[in-house]
Amino acid sequence: MPALKLHSQLNLSYSNGPGARFVLWVQGCSLGCPGCFNPETHDFDRGELVAVQDLVGKALKLKTKIEGITISGGEPFQQPEALFEFLKEFKERSDLSVLVFSGFTLSEIEEQPSLKRSLPYIDVLIAGRYAANLVESNKWLGSANQQQHLLTDRYTQEDLQSVPKTEVQISSDGEIRKSGIDPLG
Ligand code: SF4
Repeated sequence: MPALKLHSQLNLSYSNGPGARFVLWVQGCSLGCPGCFNPETHDFDRGELVAVQDLVGKALKLKTKIEGITISGGEPFQQPEALFEFLKEFKERSDLSVLVFSGFTLSEIEEQPSLKRSLPYIDVLIAGRYAANLVESNKWLGSANQQQHLLTDRYTQEDLQSVPKTEVQISSDGEIRKSGIDPLG
């Protein structure tokens, strides 16, 4: 079973997709979008390798608290085998939803069989290169040029539009964590 290289994770978020979600930010991206909001996720030599089985186990432990998971990055589809194995096992063992952010367009993903095989396990794909100059200030969905693909009927455009753009969490030990697009500058 492969391992996914992670930058970070957040057990409970309300600003990375509809409802409460477990969020994974993968490590590694070579796409070089102008004005990328997460450049510390680019280096493939950084991050932590986590066995897919352990990640699925963790997501399933959270299943009474969340309605789904979100995978962002970094570029999830640049770890195609681990992404596929994770999504397949997660979907086979739960009915929770999956939302994925990718810098690739849907056509680019569909052109490569090793990437395309993950699509049946994704409910919402936010796809395409991020462009900082096209960010809409009132939305969490990235830049206006990116496409929102509802790959299943799990969610509607209205569901996506109602997600808060950003959130701030304060842990019991006082650590402040911001999440979402352009969180509070
Ligand atoms: S795909 Fe995502 S992580 Fe990669 S450069 Fe673009 S915005 Fe940044």
